[in-house]
Formats: sequence, structure tokens, C-alpha cells
Amino acid sequence: MKVLVTGGAGFIGSHLVDELRAREHEVCVLDNLAVGSIDSIKHHLGKAGFRFICDSILNAEQLDELIAETDLVYHLAAAVGVRHIVRDPLGAILTNVQGTENVLASCARHWKRVVITSSSEVYGRSNGRPLSEDADRVLGPTFVNRWSYSASKAIDEHLAWAYHSKGLEVSVVRYFNCYGPRLNENGYGSVVANFIRQALRGDPITVHNGGRQTRSFTYVSDTVQGTILAGERPEAVGEAFNIGNPVETSIMDLALLVKRLTDSQSPIVQVPYEDYYGQRHEDTPRRCPEISKARELLGFAPRVSLEEGLRRTISWCASHYSLAPRATLAYLDVQSRIPLDAPMPGDGGERLEDGSIAQRI
Ligand code: UDP
Repeated sequence: MKVLVTGGAGFIGSHLVDELRAREHEVCVLDNLAVGSIDSIKHHLGKAGFRFICDSILNAEQLDELIAETDLVYHLAAAVGVRHIVRDPLGAILTNVQGTENVLASCARHWKRVVITSSSEVYGRSNGRPLSEDADRVLGPTFVNRWSYSASKAIDEHLAWAYHSKGLEVSVVRYFNCYGPRLNENGYGSVVANFIRQALRGDPITVHNGGRQTRSFTYVSDTVQGTILAGERPEAVGEAFNIGNPVETSIMDLALLVKRLTDSQSPIVQVPYEDYYGQRHEDTPRRCPEISKARELLGFAPRVSLEEGLRRTISWCASHYSLAPRATLAYLDVQSRIPLDAPMPGDGGERLEDGSIAQRI
């Protein structure tokens, strides 16, 4: 098949491209390299059956030409990363909403099947239970920038269903905290990238707000597996799927695991949200997918454990991240888990490399 991957030079996109190429599809990547990197796809450049177009999904004319000559579209191009979004909500909203509308309109014009990639962020602040695809969305106020990402992805999904009602073959996948090799060192601000970078450098590992919040970290090959299935299986058309590993891990446990796997001397420190995100911030205390729908309709089954996935990711980061230590502050270390009822950091912490304030714990 001829497959178009928007955002194919990005972290998840480039792994998807690798897998599609391994399955001998012809692949065209459309990416403006705003967050993606040419390094992630350079091994495909110049090969028969592979094309790279450096352009934005906001260039509707170019996009339409590419979609006209493709069989299937995986739409991954988006503004990503909570920290990035809270700093540039306008850019994120325009890219995610206008860009996705361009993709859907063009797929509808040419009757091409499309997979829209969404995010577990659409659920907002979860209610404590594993999230099924039809769970309610719980969002904070509109003046908290974080929720603009959730809202923009939800609009993408509404657009997908609106086009589906007109006959478009469309599926939606919601990703849960994907990580793995090629995770951008700084750009997305993901907790996994931050902790690995900090641990490898011997810098303080910065846990926000006590680290009791949980996430379901999903290794990138599992994310790619779910994405491909959503584009292949006839049962997937008109459906949304949680694509995540349902094993839930607290941020503090992640910090301890990264520290152990890197054999790092880094202290673990607490940082208030506001010092990292730079404004009033709201977080999701728990985020865990219910994946029975993806298991049953797609045959999706996550395979890579967090420990194994982190080992592979750390090994890649060790040779790709800039590892000169930047912070020289001495912190008291924690050898065991911080009590979950530990007091929240107040004023009087010390300033870290990225300008945030950390508290000794
Ligand atoms: N986080 C953290 N330290 C960091 C970066 C993030 O403790 O250096 C926390 C963040 O506040 C959130 C969790 O880790 O509670 C996951 O953050 P991330 O941005 O990776 O993903 P998301 O919030 O979108 O799930």
C-alpha cells in the first residue's frame, strides 16, 4: 500500500514509519520538522518506496496532493507535550484543529481511509477508575492552558466523527504516555526524557508535587502496534481506541526505577508544578487505560514491560543526549520511597538548571 504519515519524522511517527517500511509499504512522510527530526528518518532517505516532504499540514494544497496519491493516512502531526502547549497554546490549537481538519477534509474529498491520533489527555482529570473509551471527560477551567490541548484533541475527534457520518473511513487512537528511543531530549518535556537525562547527568531528578500521580507508560513499539492495527482492521472504522499499557506507575516509582536502571547518584527532589510549567497548572492525578475494546476488536496486546522499555530507552539516550552535568547543587538523597503524605515544598528551595525551584527532601 501507499501510506502517508503526517508527523512521520517525530518520535512516534518515525517508529511507525520503520514498521510500515519493514512491512514493505511505500511510505511518504510529511513533516515540517518543528518537533520532529530528520535524524529519526535519515536511514530511509534515498531508498526506493520512501519520500520525505518537509512541509506543514497547514499547507492544505500540498497536503491534498499527497493524500490524492495515497491509499491510507496515519495523521500524527501535532503540537505535543504539555509543557510546550502551556507555553504556546495558540500555536498548538491552530496546528491541532486546523491541521486535522485539513487532513480529514482532504481524505473525505479523495475517499481515503485515515487514522487520527489523539491522546489520553482528552479524558482530562480522570475520576480514579481505568478509563474506557466512553468515559466522561473532566476538564478544568479554560484559563488553565493545559486543557487547551485536551480540548483541541477532542475537537479533532469530533471532526473525525462528523466526517465519518458523511461516509469517511476514520479511526481514532488515544495514546497513553508513550516513551522509547528517539524521545526528544528537551522538546516534549516528557517525564521519562527528563528523568533519564537528569539521572544520566547526575542532576537532581525532579519529581512534581510528591510524585503520587500515576501514568500508564507505554513503550513505543506497543503504541505503533495499536496504531497500525487501527489502520488495518475493518472493525476499527468509526471507532476510538485506548492504545496504552494498563500497568499504572506513580511518578515517584518511575524516578526510583530510572535511578536504579541508570545506576545514578542523582538525588530525587520535589518541584512544585508552577515552577516547572510557569503558571497556574492543573494535573491529572491518575491515568490508566481500559484496553478491552482494543484487545477484542484489534487484537492489541502491549508486550514490553516498563523495566525492559526503560532499559532500551536509557541505552539510546546514553548515546544521544547531551550528558554534561549542568546542575551542581548538592541534595540530600532518598534511598527509599518518599512518604506519600510528605509535606509539599514551600518557598526557599534552590534554583535548578531549567529555572525551576527544587526543595530538599
Ligand atoms: N513530571 C515530573 N517531573 C518532570 C516532568 C513531569 O514529575 O520533570 C510529572 C508531571 O507533572 C506529570 C507527570 O510527570 O504529573 C507526567 O508528565 P508528562 O508531561 O510526561 O505527561 P502528561 O502530564 O501529559 O501525562
